[in-house]
Amino acid sequence: MTEIRPPPLLHPHPSSPRMALPGCFAAFFRRNRVGVNHPEPRYKVERPRILPDYRMTTRFFKSITTCDNFYTDPPNWWLNTDADPPAYSPGDESVIDQKLDELSPLLRQLSLDIHSHPETAFQEIYAHDLLTTFMADNGFKVTKSYLGIATAFRAEFHHGKGGRTLGVNSEYDALKGIGHACGHNLIAVAGVGVALTLKAALEAHDICGRIVLLGTPAEEGGGGKILLLNGGGYQEMDLCVMCHPSTGPKHSANVGTCITVQEIEVEYVGRSAHAGAAPWEGTNALDAAFLAYSGISVLRQQMRPENRIHGTIEGNQDWAPNVIPDYAKMRWLVRTPTRTELTSLVERVKRCFEAAALATSCEIKMNLAAPYLDLNQNQVLGKEFSDVLMKRYGMHTMSRAGSASTDFGNVSYALPALHPGFAIPTELNGGNHTIGFTRAAASLHAHEATLAVAKGLAHTALRALRDDEFFQQVKESFRKPRQDLSI
Ligand SMILES: [Zn+2]
Ligand SMILES: [Zn+2]
Repeated sequence: MTEIRPPPLLHPHPSSPRMALPGCFAAFFRRNRVGVNHPEPRYKVERPRILPDYRMTTRFFKSITTCDNFYTDPPNWWLNTDADPPAYSPGDESVIDQKLDELSPLLRQLSLDIHSHPETAFQEIYAHDLLTTFMADNGFKVTKSYLGIATAFRAEFHHGKGGRTLGVNSEYDALKGIGHACGHNLIAVAGVGVALTLKAALEAHDICGRIVLLGTPAEEGGGGKILLLNGGGYQEMDLCVMCHPSTGPKHSANVGTCITVQEIEVEYVGRSAHAGAAPWEGTNALDAAFLAYSGISVLRQQMRPENRIHGTIEGNQDWAPNVIPDYAKMRWLVRTPTRTELTSLVERVKRCFEAAALATSCEIKMNLAAPYLDLNQNQVLGKEFSDVLMKRYGMHTMSRAGSASTDFGNVSYALPALHPGFAIPTELNGGNHTIGFTRAAASLHAHEATLAVAKGLAHTALRALRDDEFFQQVKESFRKPRQDLSI
């Protein structure tokens, strides 16, 4: 039997006869009394905790500088009772508020219907048919399978002659295995709600203009919006808006940017052989994938903390432990805050893939999708949205960079655009892309938050449609290089 000894300390106390600490860290360790007799473990793992019930002050938002996630106990979501959203400004009724309140039960039904029929990228047939039927029934001219993309659609309403064209986006794709874990059922009905309520507002106030709702498939991979953008689907629009649920302080939205992402598909092709009888006759594709995975794990040590690389090994159905695998496939995502950084990090990642092929003598094939860009949130639209949300619905908006990515980033560099995130109540560790978020995306509180944000977007967009001076400012802001909003 082997005697188990505790591992040696990494940095014995300088006074220890065993070793003197070199260099300038000696003083650090002396000062912090890190030594052989130190009774405490070096690092403590903090237990996750539910954050306290924050009062929404400006100071609180300014203090947020990290990438913490927020989880809010659903029963405490709204300020007053379970059912009541935040108080609106008294006596400030409008067509937008009335119309969205009237639509709420129908939108809730649509949302739950999409939620219970999760479909992944480019397979969203149920959602496509459901939404196109609904828009056609509500007076929109619908083009199904828009621009040759089977599950994309365009729904248009035009009032009067001329006027500006507002684009609105609805997403409805789900995640493999975990359903609507990104809440795209809420995005779908937010888009529908904004489009229908603005139709009512254009008619009620006799404002000339066009509303175009684009159904944009495959946001979670596949870049549906990039395909629509390249096909001219956004050309007619003067501006475009959408929103996205996430975790966050309650009653809050976020108009911060998000980061770029490059999807890379890698295939290794080797040669199979009997793993016991003649392994030397094989070329192991799984080994290549394993080496690539390890190479990237090492590369992470030299990455900036705001960058991300993550991937999976897919292989094929024929893998068996007694056969040398002759094929392996990997899917990777590389994320950085800017396009320039993305280009250089992707080059380093590609070298890890190539090195693995070289080491194992496998053939390699690499496919790089069109990258998703960071979000170029229009500052004028963002400030207006923030203002409306606070004054009308008592909701706070922050400007905080997130570390997720969206194909709406590419849209935001093509025309003035706004893509606020908004908080829905979630369980602890139940953020986006978890089964907990799937549950949260079906809750009534999440629906109410979606409606409030849809109202905020509709008010903002209506101003852009009818106020020439305001729209001029929106355009001027778009011409400037990307700046992050300071709210
Ligand atoms: Zn997602
Ligand atoms: Zn999403």
